Amino acid sequence: MADVFDQIFGQPRVREFLRASVATEHVTHAYLFTGPAGSNKTQAAYALAAALLCKDGGCNACDTCQKVARRKHPDVRYYAPEGAGGYLVDQVREIVADASLAPIQADRKIYILDRVDLLGTSAANAFLKTLEEPPADVVLVLMGRTRESVLPTIVSRCSVVPFRHIPASEAAAILCQRTGADPDLAKIAIEACGGSITRGIEFLKSNERLAFRKRVLEVLANIGHADMWDTLTQASELVVLAKAPLDTVRAAHEAQLAENADFLERSAIRQIEARNKRELSAKSLESFRQITAITASFLRDVLAVCSGAGELVINHDVRADIEEVAARTDEARVAKALDAVRKCDDAISYNVSPETCLDALLFEIGEALYGSHSPR
Ligand SMILES: [Zn+2]
Repeated sequence: MADVFDQIFGQPRVREFLRASVATEHVTHAYLFTGPAGSNKTQAAYALAAALLCKDGGCNACDTCQKVARRKHPDVRYYAPEGAGGYLVDQVREIVADASLAPIQADRKIYILDRVDLLGTSAANAFLKTLEEPPADVVLVLMGRTRESVLPTIVSRCSVVPFRHIPASEAAAILCQRTGADPDLAKIAIEACGGSITRGIEFLKSNERLAFRKRVLEVLANIGHADMWDTLTQASELVVLAKAPLDTVRAAHEAQLAENADFLERSAIRQIEARNKRELSAKSLESFRQITAITASFLRDVLAVCSGAGELVINHDVRADIEEVAARTDEARVAKALDAVRKCDDAISYNVSPETCLDALLFEIGEALYGSHSPR
């Protein structure tokens, strides 16, 4: 039976390092995982958390391991920046106060802090003491894009674990091996999920996500034939579809609270509610970023056809649409459209309302691809 570390795809050195640290009880109180998006840092953080809470060092079978894997263990906390520009000082104070409380179910607590490259000086100062000397039952796992992008005062207090970039072809191969999916479909899933193998696995399992991708591609193929009203309608339709998975998450949250409400204290319930809210906004962000990822993938395919490299097309199931768009535009225009997608993706990451972004994005893509004349 594979242990939890087996889930850290594409990072053999990280996997062995963490496995050995736990096995030999050389766990430090603070880690900094560095690596690009899609390098499996989050998966690794949860694997480490499971290994530290599980009585068998991360068996991947017991109730504790399962709860951590489903992101439902009350003693594993995940945080991401809540401010538009990064972590807020108040948010960090809340984390610090929370860290001093006793664990709820396990004998220690794991704090996972995403994007600590967005931890500014004031917020970092509020955190330094905890980072230097966390309560004995707390392990901190910080994650950032690169070592250089994280404040030196943070880096120097952590054990740094570098993650490598996993090339898309390798990620797709791992996805095939894990799911038994068709290689072409695996490539599509990796592109739609911004390179993440973990999200790719979920994507392939969900008919609803696959249908969502189809709809996004249809809208893109039709941009050249759509008038302003069509575009507005389609943008709002995509917003509704992007938000659909949130209903499932919300229902699961409500069921979980109802189940626990009788024996949990008020403060614990408040913590769960706060965590649910964060999970919901993270899910929403993920869903909207899937639109930009699918859009970028489609446009890269159009670019490949425009530049005579049609064999590189990833979204082969809509090749006819890709070729039709390519025939009506050129490389420079597609590059401009891709630029608009990148900007939209940045804006969504910085908490700009996705609804507004999406309208604007569809208009900008139409404009970039087909110029200022009204579409044919
Ligand atoms: Zn276990």
